Amino acid sequence: MTSLAMEGSKYHFIIFLIFKVKFCVGIMVQVVNQKTFDGISPIDLMEATYKAAENFQIRAFFEAKDEILKIGKYSEQEFYEILDAMINAETERKLVLDKMQGLEPLFLGEIAEKIKEFPADNVIRDVIYLKEQGYVEEQVEVKTKMVTKKIKGEEKEVEVKEYFYRYQAKELPDDFSETYFEPVSIVFEAGACCNCGWCSAICPVNALTVSADELKLDEDSCMKCGLCFTVCPRSFSIDRANEAIKKLDKNLNWSDKIGAYINTYSGSTKKDEIIKVRQDGGVVTSIAEYLLKNKLVDAIIAVQHSKDLWKPEPVIVDDVKDLYKTAGTKYANSPSLSIMDQAKKYDKIAFVGVPCMMKALEKGTLYPSGLPFFKNIKYKIGLFCMESFPYEGIIRLAKEQFDKDINELTKMNIGGGKFIINLKSGEQMDVPLKDVQQYARDSCHFCEDLTSDYADFSVGSIGSQDGWSSVITRTPEADELYNDIVKEGLIESKSLKEVKPGQFLVEKIGGIKRNKCKPVELKKPNEEAGD
Ligand SMILES: Cc1cc2nc3c(=O)[nH]c(=O)nc-3n(C[C@H](O)[C@H](O)[C@H](O)COP(=O)(O)OP(=O)(O)OC[C@H]3O[C@@H](n4cnc5c(N)ncnc54)[C@H](O)[C@@H]3O)c2cc1C
Ligand code: SF4
Ligand code: SF4
Ligand code: SF4
Repeated sequence: MTSLAMEGSKYHFIIFLIFKVKFCVGIMVQVVNQKTFDGISPIDLMEATYKAAENFQIRAFFEAKDEILKIGKYSEQEFYEILDAMINAETERKLVLDKMQGLEPLFLGEIAEKIKEFPADNVIRDVIYLKEQGYVEEQVEVKTKMVTKKIKGEEKEVEVKEYFYRYQAKELPDDFSETYFEPVSIVFEAGACCNCGWCSAICPVNALTVSADELKLDEDSCMKCGLCFTVCPRSFSIDRANEAIKKLDKNLNWSDKIGAYINTYSGSTKKDEIIKVRQDGGVVTSIAEYLLKNKLVDAIIAVQHSKDLWKPEPVIVDDVKDLYKTAGTKYANSPSLSIMDQAKKYDKIAFVGVPCMMKALEKGTLYPSGLPFFKNIKYKIGLFCMESFPYEGIIRLAKEQFDKDINELTKMNIGGGKFIINLKSGEQMDVPLKDVQQYARDSCHFCEDLTSDYADFSVGSIGSQDGWSSVITRTPEADELYNDIVKEGLIESKSLKEVKPGQFLVEKIGGIKRNKCKPVELKKPNEEAGD
């Protein structure tokens, strides 16, 4: 772009902001995600909005307007909704940062209590983002305590570390410059990408292509808006923000191992057609069927076998008759979020996926603000997941561990510490789970979530008997819906606390996964290892 053209677009951008500030000041503004700037003085708001306008990423997005509209993923209205969300979020962050000046290091919840001008959830997510931008420092305090644990039947005193995170605005040097977010190719290059496909669905100029095992960035198309990094579940963590936000909601139960929840159940479908095709309790397919039949959603994004058996492909199902083809677990990764933009024609959709995908959706809701990309996602049905495999890994696993061709398999399952296969011959075989872990995807080692903490419903086999699924409802609406399905007689249900091994085991394995998780270390382009 020539400097004259740059000046021109800067001019247009400033005009846009002036309109926006006038709008904010003149009328009581109700912005995209219902948050208001009420209570902020017009001068402070104007100053914060102008500071927000300096943000490199917002400018990059605004300046690429023509290109974005030409690509056609987002309409002009959607373009402005995303821009609005970016500017509102950045403006709010500037105001939050201002109010953090002079405060001592505090826990996220304490900061939210001090800054009353915005909803507590917003303040908490803003502090985490400000940390990533380089404005806020995280201080970690480690305390040790002794607890009694039963190890191999014997009670033992063991030392347990506890971590406490406090945040404080940094004193910025004169030459400070804000950290801007790189495209997510750095996440892939660090080996941390879980290939969920979210970044490619979001990218306004289709510069990213994600398959089950690859991520490709078209450098020429990328306009460095940083949106992909913002929404990626592996770029920076939202776990501490989530914990602080969820703990504010007194309706929710909190577990360090399985996250926030309303209730836990063990469920099994009562429908014979679903029993024939289900993985465990057939709960996922039952919920999906109920949603479609009662027109609570127009379509479900799920996974079915591709032309290669056991190689999953994401599908959009808008007819109940196609739903049963999706039942059953395929242990290879499916980049299901990558097809999200193809479901835009539906007003309301449900999404079925593994925990990393649930986190991706949550991140796209927190940042920039209110999920401006795809507003039609109504329900998130998350699966439990310890690890997934590359498709080639599944083929090798069948061959090397069982001496079988993958096409002979009718089912794969993980249960009781074993990897189990069923064959067309009717035979069942198993090997210890530890023997198949060598075939799992390396990127799953960066995953701390077993139970889809960010879903509305979480469903898995751990904790329940064969033919049953463990179910965690995480919102009052999901809990009500699950109980409606039970009342309709579609699912038989018990409390997960009353079955064996029950919630205890889910929490135990959830805790093991959290402790095993490796931290993600990202390198900026041209940065040497150890920099
Ligand atoms: C990769 C993977 C690993 C898992 N690991 C564990 C585990 O360690 N412990 C545990 O308790 N549970 C695990 N699960 C969940 C478990 O296998 C069942 O999916 C769950 O218990 C629901 O059973 P159901 O009978 O209710 O599901 P069903 O009614 O049979 O429906 C299954 C649903 O899963 C979806 N699905 C299938 N494969 C995939 C995939 N690759 N990606 C996204 N969605 C998919 C289908 O679209 C369908 O909607 C895993 C699931 C997956 C996909
Ligand atoms: S959004 Fe998903 S696919 Fe994209 S880089 Fe992040 S983890 Fe990988
Ligand atoms: S790849 Fe990322 S940074 Fe580049 S245009 Fe797409 S979303 Fe923006
Ligand atoms: S272990 Fe984590 S990263 Fe791997 S597929 Fe499961 S949820 Fe995704």
